[in-house]
Amino acid sequence: MLRSGKQYLDSLDDGRVIYIGDEQVENPATHPAFRDMARIYAQLYDLKQAPGNVDLMSYEEDGERYSTSFLKPRNQADLEKRTAAHRFITEWSYGLLGRSPDATASNVTGIAMKPDVLEENEGGYADHLAALWQDLRKNDVFLTYAIVPPPAARNPEYYQSKGIPSPTLKVTKEDDAGVYISGMKFLATGAAVANEVIVGNILPLADDQAAESITCIIPFNLPGLSLWARKPFARDVKHEFEAPLSFRYDESDCMLLFKDVHVPWEKVIVHNNAPLSRDIFVKSASHVLSNHQSNCRFHSKMRFITGIASLITQATGAHGIPAVRETLAKLAAMEAAFGAIIDAQIYAHEKITDEYVLYARRYMYAGLLWAAENHSMLLDTVRELMGGGVFQFPASIDIVNDPELKSTFETYWATASDSSAERMKLFSLAWDLVGSPAASRMQSYEKFFVGPLFSVRNYNYINAPWDEFDGLVKDLMDQYDVPGQGT
Ligand SMILES: Cc1cc2nc3c(=O)[nH]c(=O)nc-3n(C[C@H](O)[C@H](O)[C@H](O)COP(=O)(O)OP(=O)(O)OC[C@H]3O[C@@H](n4cnc5c(N)ncnc54)[C@H](O)[C@@H]3O)c2cc1C
Repeated sequence: MLRSGKQYLDSLDDGRVIYIGDEQVENPATHPAFRDMARIYAQLYDLKQAPGNVDLMSYEEDGERYSTSFLKPRNQADLEKRTAAHRFITEWSYGLLGRSPDATASNVTGIAMKPDVLEENEGGYADHLAALWQDLRKNDVFLTYAIVPPPAARNPEYYQSKGIPSPTLKVTKEDDAGVYISGMKFLATGAAVANEVIVGNILPLADDQAAESITCIIPFNLPGLSLWARKPFARDVKHEFEAPLSFRYDESDCMLLFKDVHVPWEKVIVHNNAPLSRDIFVKSASHVLSNHQSNCRFHSKMRFITGIASLITQATGAHGIPAVRETLAKLAAMEAAFGAIIDAQIYAHEKITDEYVLYARRYMYAGLLWAAENHSMLLDTVRELMGGGVFQFPASIDIVNDPELKSTFETYWATASDSSAERMKLFSLAWDLVGSPAASRMQSYEKFFVGPLFSVRNYNYINAPWDEFDGLVKDLMDQYDVPGQGT
């Protein structure tokens, strides 16, 4: 069932505990730090239902309509539909929403496509996952994920040497109804405005860390769970005009703190199996299906970055200079190549079970690594094209409230093609992409959201056909002899 924006906004008033510093948030849908972000997601829920979009953004099964992000792809057409639905959202949000609801819906759908990973292992609860997936799909739930231990907790000796317990999340006891969990998970993007969270482990655990392998899907209002938000950006923005991206897309990142939280068994997917807690993501379709969405998002962002670069050079008057055109050409070439990486994932898709197909894994991981390694370079290119232009503008557009200042501003800051306010609007937007606190957070997001870079490189390594690569070279070398040793 698709739900409306209003239903989504109402669902956020669920009694969850969120702290911004020492302030406790009553309802994220109305709090100034989160309400504009929530409004954007609400718009998205309404857009999905709109008559012109509903066919793409949903699919029918047994007389009911569900979001396309829950579609288990059986053929290339299904993959194409999923990609088009992701692209609809990523283009609409200019690639600036890291955690749109389709991302994590894909994550759970990918696990549900290969239940054998859970079925074949002790501590795996395939039946729970199947029921949870049905429920999430039926209610079109907005999920996020927290699947990394807190920084430093990856090295238990570090804590033991200081005589303090590691803060990482683990099961402390269990009863007939479920498990009790305590500790922290790092770092749930979108948590303030999502409905539920997948708690788990994308980094490998040692065998003696079985208690940390707990993987569950839970709402944010479980007693004992609190969300500790990082500093928000949106509420510091006085005029959307001055920082439109901070204003609209401050999706929030929260530490999750669990103190004796009781999780009912039916919400538990993995318990007491260290390798399985990671395998359910990387050995199922989950990692690929969800990060195909990340690739689509990054591509939309590249298109947006390229547009900003182009408009900025028009505003500075440098657009026609050959060296500047070459820089723009390189951006356009990279954007085109990245788009092709996404299309290639569809055309080279893999059959993963008798029933289901999946995007080409290697191409997805190649896109993921390229994006993480090159996002900063793309932003730096825009920064260079901007020169110091952004710093020419007054501290606030409030100057227009003073007729004399307004007149001076309109006279001196204008160019032949653009008014002073139009130029300030463009440069403020560009700065919010490359230089503001929100931009800086986004830079860290692109480097780390999927896990540390060394692990993304590792996915590329372990999925590469080394025998084929080596074979090519050996094949050529077999065609000629070492002098003095040939037959
Ligand atoms: C903005 C943002 C949003 C995020 N959103 C989410 C989310 O929604 N859900 C979620 O689960 N996680 C999220 N994360 C967390 C993300 O998964 C982690 O940041 C990532 O796994 C890296 O862990 P870390 O930050 O603790 O860095 P560390 O592990 O402390 O690593 C820091 C640096 O140390 C070096 N290093 C450390 N260990 C090694 C090693 N073994 N080999 C080589 N170099 C090493 C590397 O240079 C690395 O970049 C988010 C992170 C950010 C910044």
